[in-house]
Amino acid sequence: MSKTEIEKILSDAKHFLQQEQVLFGNTLYRNIAPSEHVSSTNAERIEEPMAVKKDTVPAAPVSITVTETASGPKEKWQSDASLNDLNRHICNCTKCRLGATRTKFVFGVGNPKADLLVIGEAPGADEDKQGEPFVGRAGQLLNKILEAVQFKREEVYIANILKCRPPENRRPHPDEVEQCEPYLWKQIELIKPKFILCLGLTAAQTLLKTEESLTSLRASVHNYHGVPTFVTYHPAALLRNPNWKRPTWEDVQKLRKMYDESKNN
Ligand code: URA
Repeated sequence: MSKTEIEKILSDAKHFLQQEQVLFGNTLYRNIAPSEHVSSTNAERIEEPMAVKKDTVPAAPVSITVTETASGPKEKWQSDASLNDLNRHICNCTKCRLGATRTKFVFGVGNPKADLLVIGEAPGADEDKQGEPFVGRAGQLLNKILEAVQFKREEVYIANILKCRPPENRRPHPDEVEQCEPYLWKQIELIKPKFILCLGLTAAQTLLKTEESLTSLRASVHNYHGVPTFVTYHPAALLRNPNWKRPTWEDVQKLRKMYDESKNN
């Protein structure tokens, strides 16, 4: 095994232990609970009102290195060591039909070493034109949500499940997600965020591999490969339903609290 490989394993182990400390305090051993998974059948494209929150963290930490879970022969981008290289290698992707209809590939934006990764669904019309996620009305609201808990847009990293716009902003098709999500896994591997915030049902269900409702997903802090993961409403849903702004604010406050606690440890 090369020195670089050993250093990577040690760095991943350190990162994992830091996340464990954030989630569970200074406990070195705990029983692993069975992971929570799929419950219902078809997920509706709605964001539901809030239920009572509980502070539960399912325990299923594995490793921050998630790219190897992508199927098929190894492609060049899978070995990339920087976001710039990754973008260069994937920005002309035509693995799914959206490659033919996009204007711009929307890789992601922000601090490549961000402690917080924000994940949305897919680019909309404005994002498709500009090549940057969350730049339209929903993006402006996202900036305000982040600012409300003292995060600057430039300080975090923002990406989507899909890198190309689905026509008419329809929900991503499963085969599109299958082709595109490994790029997000690679981004996560490179950024090594300490926290993840999923915006809306599609981002949360896709990343966490569950069909649970938004209500149920918002009620817990999830454990995505050792990274504490929060779920809240999609800003576009808040534009349609301002009543959900308050629960969203509560969600991000909770995230901020855990983020600050992690800094003080
Ligand atoms: N909605 C998303 O989910 N992502 C964007 O980039 C813009 C709107």
